[in-house]
Amino acid sequence: MKQVRLVAPQTVILEEVEKPAPADTQVLIRVKRIGVCGSDIHAYYDKHPYISCPIVQGHEFSGEVVETGERVKALAVGDRVTVIPQLVCGVCHPCTHGSYHICNELKVIGCQADGAAREFIPVDQELVVKLPQDMSFDHGAMVEPVAVGVHAVRRLGDVSGMKILVLGAGPIGNLAAQVAKGLGAAAVMITDVSAFRLEKARDCGIDQVVNVAVELLESRIDSAFGIDRADAILECAGVQDTIEQAIGLARKGTDIIVVGVFAERPMVDLGLVQDKELRLIGTLMYKAEDYRTAIELIQSGSVRLDPLITKHFPFQEYADAYKYIEEYGDRSQKVLIDLDE
Ligand SMILES: [Zn+2]
Ligand SMILES: [Zn+2]
Repeated sequence: MKQVRLVAPQTVILEEVEKPAPADTQVLIRVKRIGVCGSDIHAYYDKHPYISCPIVQGHEFSGEVVETGERVKALAVGDRVTVIPQLVCGVCHPCTHGSYHICNELKVIGCQADGAAREFIPVDQELVVKLPQDMSFDHGAMVEPVAVGVHAVRRLGDVSGMKILVLGAGPIGNLAAQVAKGLGAAAVMITDVSAFRLEKARDCGIDQVVNVAVELLESRIDSAFGIDRADAILECAGVQDTIEQAIGLARKGTDIIVVGVFAERPMVDLGLVQDKELRLIGTLMYKAEDYRTAIELIQSGSVRLDPLITKHFPFQEYADAYKYIEEYGDRSQKVLIDLDE
């Protein structure tokens, strides 16, 4: 079978390797669609602290079961599936206290273990999630980033009736905003400095979009949400400006979910966190229930994915996809890699 491997920074090769066989508890998946994630690009340019070469990338993907191991129960040949790409130890404190998604030894398939950039991947049955049979492989490959949004929003508890501010309209910010609405938020406002990303946010049905490069965020919040402002804030950009805005514009006693990945250490006024009794809450990945909710939100149309799909590349042009994303910057949202279609 064919496989794409990142062998050195900015060097991906297409190679021929032996087709794997599933172990007893595994299924063999024929990969159909792979989503390229920001972290893949960071790794490609050797800028990711936790991913190093050589690695087969691809942690957002969908496909079809083509073989099952002897002890596989709930999956069958022909099932359309996606995968929760978490390899966990099962014995550390987080694992034994219900938080396996932040396992001390967490390895992400496609990041610290070989991923889906190949024609066939064997995956343990416990990590395989069945997709509705009428869900497209495009949407199936995007369940993972939607689940990131679901988990982030759920860190707030029940969001019904809440007014939520999302800072950053990249794929994760966009999806988190849509998820918040889908889970019952009364109103959602999203910000960015990219007109392109904000237009996509509008296409996805997000209530309020604010271009902070040309508009004053504070007055937009006042006019949209009233003097009590947002009930919660999701920081989805991972830069100094947005975490500063979050803390500065938060009403007293609110929660700020830190979703963005910070490449540099921000300098923030912790005095405001103390004085306003803010809670800064981190979020990393997701759990199985977040995958289930993500699938429901996609199926019901509460989360729209099509406006986010910027481009498709064939499997043989993996490197071109990476170059395209780098070149188009904020004008590229989700890029998908297609296999055999
Ligand atoms: Zn990702
Ligand atoms: Zn663990």
